[in-house]
Amino acid sequence: MNADNSSIDRSVLMQVEVDLGKCVGHAQCFAAASAVYDLSDEDGTCVIRYAEIPSAHEAEARHGADACPERAITVIP
Ligand code: SF4
Repeated sequence: MNADNSSIDRSVLMQVEVDLGKCVGHAQCFAAASAVYDLSDEDGTCVIRYAEIPSAHEAEARHGADACPERAITVIP
């Protein structure tokens, strides 16, 4: 019996963080990967669409992070 849901390994789910102290609104993340990245209506800074990136969007998330000229996006892991 599996009472603790240990069959679900949540440690493998990718997360993406943006450092808003570095983000200046180039929108390159959004241009490269709009399924993962959005832009704030207020100031144009980066908004991450997901707390945890669906596996189908992992490659796109990395592509968008690589596109940021300010290196403001961190991909975990
Ligand atoms: S490309 Fe970088 S600086 Fe530009 S909006 Fe995206 S995270 Fe911010």
